[in-house]
Amino acid sequence: MSQFASPFVVNSVIDGIAWPGIPAASGQALLTVLLQLEQTQWWTPAQILDRQRQQLQQLLVHAREHVPFYRERLRDVGELSETDDWLARWRQVAPLRRDDIQRADAAETMIADFVPPGHGDLTEVYTSGSTGKPIRSVRTELWELIWSAFTIRDHLWHRRNFTGKLASIRESDKSKALYPDGAVASSWGYASATIVSTGPMVSLNVASTVEQQAEWLQRHDPDYLLTHPTIAYRLAEHCHAHSIRPARLQQVITIAENLRPEVRALCLSTWNAPVIDIYSAREAGYIALQCPDHAHYHVQSEGVFIEVLDENDKPCEPGQVGRVLVTPLHNLAMPLIRYDIGDHVELGEPCACGRGLPVIRKIIGRTQNMLTMPWGERRWPLLSSDSIEAMLKVAPAVRQYQFVQTGLDLIELRLVVARPLSPDEEEALLKWVHKKFAHEFQVAFVYLDAIPRTPAGKFEDFLSKVEPSVGGRG
Ligand SMILES: [Zn+2]
Repeated sequence: MSQFASPFVVNSVIDGIAWPGIPAASGQALLTVLLQLEQTQWWTPAQILDRQRQQLQQLLVHAREHVPFYRERLRDVGELSETDDWLARWRQVAPLRRDDIQRADAAETMIADFVPPGHGDLTEVYTSGSTGKPIRSVRTELWELIWSAFTIRDHLWHRRNFTGKLASIRESDKSKALYPDGAVASSWGYASATIVSTGPMVSLNVASTVEQQAEWLQRHDPDYLLTHPTIAYRLAEHCHAHSIRPARLQQVITIAENLRPEVRALCLSTWNAPVIDIYSAREAGYIALQCPDHAHYHVQSEGVFIEVLDENDKPCEPGQVGRVLVTPLHNLAMPLIRYDIGDHVELGEPCACGRGLPVIRKIIGRTQNMLTMPWGERRWPLLSSDSIEAMLKVAPAVRQYQFVQTGLDLIELRLVVARPLSPDEEEALLKWVHKKFAHEFQVAFVYLDAIPRTPAGKFEDFLSKVEPSVGGRG
C-alpha cells in the first residue's frame, strides 16, 4: 500500500485558503505537537530520555509546589540534572498505588492548587477498573490536546483512510447506542475532527448480543472496527460460523483488554483483517501503540515515562517480565508520579523499524489476573486456547466460563452451560483445574445464565480477589 493511500487533508478556517489548510487555534497547536512526534519517533533512546528528563523536572517542581500530596514525597529528589545519575534518584520516589490516590483525593490533597496559564480548563473522569476501587482523574485541556496527537499518530502509523467509516462496539452506558440503531456521529471524534474531515463513526453498546453485532456490522459495512479483544473474538467466531464477511473491513482496532494471539489469528482468517492493538489506560492516556511494521508495541515516550520493574524493584532487561510504573508527562492538574498501574509487560529489544521509542514485546496481563498459590507465590494462569480446548473436551456443554480466585485455596468456576453437567463432567473439570493450576484447589461450581462484563464493558476469564500478601513494597 502506498503511503499516499490515506490523504491527510487539513481543514482550513481562513477565507480564501483552501490548501494547505490552516486550522483553528486548537488545531494549530495539535499540528505543532504532531509535527514533533513525526520527528521524535526516530530519535535515539538517549535523545528521547534526555527530553523526558527535562519534562519530568518540570513536573516534579510543579507537583512539589502545588500538589500537597507530593510536598513530602518529593522533598529529597533534588533536581534531575543530566550531569549525575538522575535516574537513581528518581527511582527513590515511592511508587504511587491506587489506594494512595484514593486516600489523597479523599483528603483533597491530590489536585494541584494552581495550574500555569495555557493548560486550559480541567475535566474529570472516573475509572472503576474491575477492582471495584474507583479513582478520579482530573486533567487539563493541554493534556487532552496531546492525547489527541497520539490518537492521530495511531491513525497515521496504521495508514488509515480518514474518509472511511469507523465502527465502534465500546459504549457501556446501559442507555446508549442500543441495538438496532446504535449511535451515529458525523466524525471519528474530537481528536481527528479538530484538523481533518473524517468519515462517520457508528457505535453499538457492548451489551448487545453477538447476533445483533453481526447484523449491525453487515448493515454498516465499516472500514474499521474498534472494540475490546473479547468482543472481536466472539464476533469473528460467529462470522466465521455463518460466513459473514463485511466487504470493506480493513482493520480491527482493539483496546481496553489484554489481547490474546488467537484474536489476531481469527480476525485475519475470518475477515482477512489484521488486528491493531492499543495499550492505554483511562487515568494515564496512551501508554504504547502497535508498531506500524510489527505486532509488538512502542512506548509513547513523548507523553509518558514508563518504568518496568522486577519483583525487587530493579529495572527489567529485554525479555524480562515486570510491572509497569507510568508517569504521564503533561498533566499538571493531577500529576501521577511513578503510578503502579497494575499491569505486567515484557520489554523487547530495539525495533528493526528504526524508531527509538522503547519496545514492549508483550502485554502479559493485569496483576489482578494472576493466580496466587496457597504459599503466596503469584503466577500467570495462562489460559491458552489449547488448555481451553482441553477443558471443553471434558465438558462440551460449557458455553462460557470464568475463573475467580476467591480465597488462597479456593477457585470459583462460573459456568454458562447448554445443559446441566453430569457429576462425571464436574469431576473431570475439577481434575483439569488441579492440573492446570498445579495445585489441588477447592473448586466451587457456580452456574449462571450469563457472565456479565464489568461496568466498563470488559471481560476477564481469570480474576483474583486475593489481595497480594502483606509485607511487599511500601
Ligand atoms: Zn517498530
